[in-house]
Amino acid sequence: MKPETDLLRELPSVDRVMNHPAAAPLLERFNRPFVTATLRGLMDELRQVIRSGGDVPSDRLHEESIITDLERKLARAGRPGMTRVVNASGTILHTNLGRALLSEAAAAAVGLVARHPVNLEFDLRRGKRGQREAEIESLLRELTGAEAAAAVNNNAAAVLLGLNSMAEGKHVIVSRGELIEIGGSFRIPEVMAKSGAILREVGTTNRTHPRDYAEAIDENTGLLLKVHTSNYRVVGFAAEVELKDLVAIGRERGVPVMEDLGSGALVDLGKLGLPREPLVAERVAMGADVVTFSGDKILGGPQAGLVAGTRGWIESMNRNPLKRALRCDKLTLAALEATLRSYVQSPDLLREIPTLRAFSRPLDELEEDGRTALPLLQERLGPDYEVELVDATCQIGSGALPTEEIPSKGIAVRGRGMSSDEVARVFRQADPPVIGRIHNDRFILDLRSAGDPESVVPNLKPPMSPEGTR
Ligand SMILES: *Cc1c(COP(=O)(O)O)cnc(C)c1O
Repeated sequence: MKPETDLLRELPSVDRVMNHPAAAPLLERFNRPFVTATLRGLMDELRQVIRSGGDVPSDRLHEESIITDLERKLARAGRPGMTRVVNASGTILHTNLGRALLSEAAAAAVGLVARHPVNLEFDLRRGKRGQREAEIESLLRELTGAEAAAAVNNNAAAVLLGLNSMAEGKHVIVSRGELIEIGGSFRIPEVMAKSGAILREVGTTNRTHPRDYAEAIDENTGLLLKVHTSNYRVVGFAAEVELKDLVAIGRERGVPVMEDLGSGALVDLGKLGLPREPLVAERVAMGADVVTFSGDKILGGPQAGLVAGTRGWIESMNRNPLKRALRCDKLTLAALEATLRSYVQSPDLLREIPTLRAFSRPLDELEEDGRTALPLLQERLGPDYEVELVDATCQIGSGALPTEEIPSKGIAVRGRGMSSDEVARVFRQADPPVIGRIHNDRFILDLRSAGDPESVVPNLKPPMSPEGTR
C-alpha cells in the first residue's frame, strides 16, 4: 500500500471528474450543482478513509471508478424519502403509515386536479367566482343531515377553528375524563389555549355528571365541549354525560355544544359486524351545534378535518381568518369530494373504500389469502425460514375503538437462529419495505391490514456486494 500523502495526491480534482466523458450522462439526469456537491462529499469520504489508514487500492482513485461510485451515490440520493410500504402491521389506520388509503376514484380525482386547471373557485353556470367548498358542503349535508358543513386541514384544525370561532376569550366547559391526548401531540388543553378559549374543567377523571356542567355555567361560558375519548376507555366506576343531556343543558342555558368525534363514522360499523363508532348523523340529530371529525380515519378519505353544524356557526367559522390558514388544498378537496360521493352514490361502498373493505373482509377470505401467500413466502425466504398461518387480531387504529379487536389471519415468520427483531428488519429492508408486528416474540404479517396477499411476500434485496458497501 502506498503512503497516505501519495494516495491523497492521486485523487483527481473535482473539475477533472466532472469533465470526464463518463460523467456526461449523470448531468442529463441531475443538475450540475447537485452532482458537484455529491462528488465533493464522495471525495471527502475517500480522503477520510485514506487519512485514517484505510485500505484504498489506487485503482479506486481513478476517475472512472470514482464516477461509478458517484453514480451509485446519486441514485441513492435521488430516491424519494417517502416511499411505498406494505402495511402488514395489523393496524388498519396506522398513523405512522399514512392512515387511510384513497379509493380508486379519489386517487384518480387527485391525479386529474394535479395536472389540469380546475373550477376550484369558479361557478361554471354563472361564469363568476364560486365557493371552493360548495360541493363538499352539499355532500356532507346530505350525509350528516347538518344544515351546513366545512372542511379544513385536519380534525385538530377543525377543533382549533371551532373553539376560536365559538368561544375565544370565553370559558369552555369540558369533563376531566375527556381531556385527552391523541398521538402526534394533539392535546385538548393545549389546543384550547392556542384557540384563545379558556378551559373550565368539570367532574373527575372517571365520573362527570350533568350537574357538574350545569353548576359551572355562568356569564363567561361560551361553549360546552364533548370529546370522544378515542384512544382510551374509562371502565369500572365511571359516568359520563351523554351528548343529548349536554345538549339539553346547553339549550336551557343558551350555550352552544360542540363535539369532537375524532373518527366519526358515516356508515354504521355495527352493520359490518364491527363494534359501533358514533355516527356523525346521529350526533347532529341529537342536537350538537357543531361536530368535528377526521377525513382519513374511519371515513377512509384524505387527511382533512370535517365540520358539520348549524348554519350560523359554520358561517362564523368560514368568516374567521383562521379558516384561510387552515383550509384544504385542491388535491385534498378532490379526494374528499370523490370519497364522499362514493358514500352517497356507490352501489358497493364496502368494495370501493379501501378502509371499509379492510374492516369488512370475512375471515374465510383472509384464510384464502394466507393459503396464497404461504407457499410464495416460503419459496422467497428459503429453507432458513419457517412460515405458518395463524389466527391474529387487527386494530382499527388512529384512536378508533382502541379496546376492540377485529379477528384476522396472519402469517408467523421465524428465521433460523434469528430473533423476531432480526426477521422484522429483513422485511423492513425489502423493496418495498414490509411492515409487520411482533407479538409474543413472533413476527406476524397481518393479512387484513395488508389487503393483498402477494404484497407480504418481500422482494428481498440481494445481499450488499463489497462494492456496494464501500
Ligand atoms: C384523531 C383525533 C383528533 C385529531 O384528528 P386529526 O385529523 O389527526 O388532526 C382529534 N380529536 C380526536 C378525538 C381524535 O380521535
